[in-house]
Amino acid sequence: MSNALTFLGRDMAVDLGTANTLVYVRGRGIVLNEPSVVALNTNNGQIVAVGADAKRMIGRTPGNIVAVRPLKDGVIADFDVTERMLRYFIQKVHRRTHLAKPRLVVAVPSGITGVEQSAVKEAGHQAGARRVYIIEEPMAAAIGAGLPINEPTGNMVVDIGGGTTEIAVVAGGHLVRAESLRLGGNAMDDAIVAAVKSELGLVIGRNGARRLKMDLGLTGGPSEWTEVVGVDAVRGIPRTERIPGELMTAALEHSVATIVDAVAEMLLNLPPDLAEDVVRGKICLAGGGALLLGLAGRIETAAGIPALVVDDPLRCVVRGAGEILEAGPAAMVLTSS
Ligand code: ADP
Ligand code: MG
Repeated sequence: MSNALTFLGRDMAVDLGTANTLVYVRGRGIVLNEPSVVALNTNNGQIVAVGADAKRMIGRTPGNIVAVRPLKDGVIADFDVTERMLRYFIQKVHRRTHLAKPRLVVAVPSGITGVEQSAVKEAGHQAGARRVYIIEEPMAAAIGAGLPINEPTGNMVVDIGGGTTEIAVVAGGHLVRAESLRLGGNAMDDAIVAAVKSELGLVIGRNGARRLKMDLGLTGGPSEWTEVVGVDAVRGIPRTERIPGELMTAALEHSVATIVDAVAEMLLNLPPDLAEDVVRGKICLAGGGALLLGLAGRIETAAGIPALVVDDPLRCVVRGAGEILEAGPAAMVLTSS
C-alpha cells in the first residue's frame, strides 16, 4: 500500500476470518480486505505470497508452491503460518518504528482455544503491536450489526463464514451462548462440486461451484439455471452444462439443514427469560454466507423469528471491531496482553 506511512502508529482492528482477512485503521476505516491465503514453497517452507497474490497462484503454480488457508475450519490449523500471515497484513498497513506502537483488536472465532489466542496475541506483538485485544467474532458481528449489546435484551447472531458458522446470543454486553459449527461456504462449494459430478457427470472446480452458489442460491435465484463449463467425468473433454436451481437446492440441503437445526436447538435450550427476549427480537445474519439467496427465509420459517441479513455482511465483524477501537480502551473489556 503506497500510503502506508499515513497509518503510522495508528490503532487497528483485524477480522481474522477463515476465508477473508480485513483490517480497519482507527480514524480511517477499512484499509485492507484480502483472502486468508498463504502460498508456501514446500522445498524450504518460505512464504512466497500472501492474500490476493497468493490466491491468484492457486492452480497456476509449479508443484513446489502450495496455497494454504491457515484458518481452514476456524481452528488455527497452522500456527506458524497464521502468525506470519497476520504479521504480513498488519505490516502492510503499518510501518513499524520505535516511535509508534499501535494497539490491536483481533476478532477470532469463538471456538478457538487459549493456546490459539496466545498465538494470535504473539503474532500481534511480533508485528509491532503494543497491546493486543481479542474479541470473539459473534460479539464483533453484533456490534457491527448495530445491535444494542449493552441492554439486557437478547439477540441472536448467525455469522456464516467460509470454514465456520458462529451462532450466538448476545445479551447485557456478553456472549451468553456461542456455538461454532465447522461448516460454512467452503462446505457448500464442495457439496455443489459433488452434486454436479454425481447428477450430471461433470467435473467443475471450486470457483465454478462458488459462482453457481452466488447466482442461484437456494431459491433458483433470478435465473432458473446457470451455465458452467466443466470436464466430462468419463470422456475427459470440456463440456458446457446448464445447472438447474433444483440441483442447487438439493446440493445445499445438508449444509442449510445443519445451520437451521443448530439455530433451533440453541433457541430451545435458552433459559425462559432470555428466550422471551430473543423471540421478541430478531436474528441477524452476517458473514458472506448470509448472502445465500433463500437462507434468511429458511431460518425465519424454522425459528419463527424475523431473520435479517445485516448491511454489508462481509464487513460486519471488522466494522464492529473497529467501533470498539474508535470507542477507546474503556470499551476493550476483552482479554488483552
Ligand atoms: P470468513 O469470516 O470465514 O473469512 P466471510 O464472512 O468472508 O468468511 O465469507 C466467505 C464465504 O461467503 C465464502 O465461503 C463465500 O463463498 C461466501 N459468499 C460470499 N458471497 C456469497 C453469496 N452471494 N452467496 C453465498 N455465499 C457467499
Ligand atoms: Mg468471519
